[in-house]
Amino acid sequence: MDGVPDTRGTKALAFELGFDLVGVLDPALSHAPGWVRSVLVLGYATLDEAYDYNVYVDVQGARRWSKLAYEVLVARSARLALALRDRGARAEPLTFEDSVSLIDLRQAAVAAGLGVLGKNGLVVTARFGPRVRFGAVFTDLELPCDRPVQEYYCSSCVRCLSACPTGALGPMGLDRSRCLADFAPSREMLALQKRLVRQLTPFARLQCSTCITACPIGSDLAVPYWDGE
Ligand code: SF4
Ligand code: SF4
Repeated sequence: MDGVPDTRGTKALAFELGFDLVGVLDPALSHAPGWVRSVLVLGYATLDEAYDYNVYVDVQGARRWSKLAYEVLVARSARLALALRDRGARAEPLTFEDSVSLIDLRQAAVAAGLGVLGKNGLVVTARFGPRVRFGAVFTDLELPCDRPVQEYYCSSCVRCLSACPTGALGPMGLDRSRCLADFAPSREMLALQKRLVRQLTPFARLQCSTCITACPIGSDLAVPYWDGE
């Protein structure tokens, strides 16, 4: 068994297990249990749009919509928690079910210095733009917290606002009630979803990700659209 890792060792382990961004958050900025001394905020770059496709998964007999990216994040977070436990630390991964009550992952990613809140309502990172999804691992390791980024990446850009097909993005940010990606749509939005969101099978659909693909930051790294040729 290796020794309890320091910040560098912990982040190296997370990168080794497939995360692309790692920040340390003060647990006081979350609803983490009392034993937690640090929250590892973990970014996974979703450079292929396929990771944003929605799948209707069966979890212990209950069905819910999810994204492939979230399933990957939860599995990798569990592996990281296990690896930290092997090294003598206490660690618990954030599960999909706990993600709303324990932590706001967007705010956590911003506070842990992984990016800024962009005009599309998503965390925009320096390297991948908004093509990142976030997970977390709670640990009793006492690690120094990372600081928020001081730069604002969006500056005068409005590409995502212009590209949104429903006008959900405006000067006041994201109007969730007009977003095609909302999991609990109104009757009006449900009709729009039926028209604009492509259902592939009863259990899979192409979710709207126009405000992500429109972003110039990180677009050089994105997997290009494949037209079958
Ligand atoms: S997901 Fe689609 S509908 Fe929602 S804000 Fe982005 S571009 Fe607009
Ligand atoms: S498209 Fe422009 S305004 Fe929108 S998130 Fe990206 S940089 Fe910011």
